[in-house]
Amino acid sequence: MTIEDKQKLAFFIGLAGDYLTSGYNSGEKEYHFNTSSESDDTSFNVSHNNASQNTDTLDKIAEEISTCQNCVLAKTRKNTVPGEGVTDPLVMVIGEGPGADEDKQGRPFVGNAGQLLDKMLASINLSRTTNCFIANVVKCRPPNNRDPHPDERSACAHFLRRQIAFLKPKYILLVGRVASQSVLNVKESIEKLHGKFLDYNSGDMTIPLMITYHPSALLHNEDYKRPAWEDLKLFKSRIDSEQAL
Ligand code: URA
Repeated sequence: MTIEDKQKLAFFIGLAGDYLTSGYNSGEKEYHFNTSSESDDTSFNVSHNNASQNTDTLDKIAEEISTCQNCVLAKTRKNTVPGEGVTDPLVMVIGEGPGADEDKQGRPFVGNAGQLLDKMLASINLSRTTNCFIANVVKCRPPNNRDPHPDERSACAHFLRRQIAFLKPKYILLVGRVASQSVLNVKESIEKLHGKFLDYNSGDMTIPLMITYHPSALLHNEDYKRPAWEDLKLFKSRIDSEQAL
């Protein structure tokens, strides 16, 4: 391990401890969604090359999200949380769904887990203000932070799929079990899935995809920090090798 790697590992391993004491500065946002109509596409694994897909924009998708009533989460949400970041992302980060802070602010990953996510990304030179777009599988908060139900994930799936189709990220980073199982339509545990490179396929798009632990998991269990760091290092080395070409 190089000295730089050791420093980054030390930084990373200390993250869950210091996120509580260090101030959070999310910086400038490159893109903030405004806000809706409905669509009944419900699966991630469908190709969509129709005309309406081609005219999609982030604003249009966000507007549809803002008035969506396609599942029960609409009844209890304060705000929809479409996502935010740069519009030409090197990496699209996908989490599970908004928590209480995100529901209040209408922005993804702004609570404790979000602060840690920002630091995890920073450790591999990624950030929502320069080269990432951050979104979730479901765009409305599941009450009491429960897992989104299958029908809720399914009702929301077309939004994420359309966001990916519009943004065309060079890479996708799935954080946590729910995001990984939903996007990949698999049932394997996160312990089995993390650290793997797979492909996201939709229509004529193939995007390399990495899976790691959710930052909340790292906050609850220190044992996940080391494997998460190994996942991120692997992810970064692939990005570096391919982007240098
Ligand atoms: N956890 C998530 O998966 N997404 C958020 O936006 C916040 C917390």
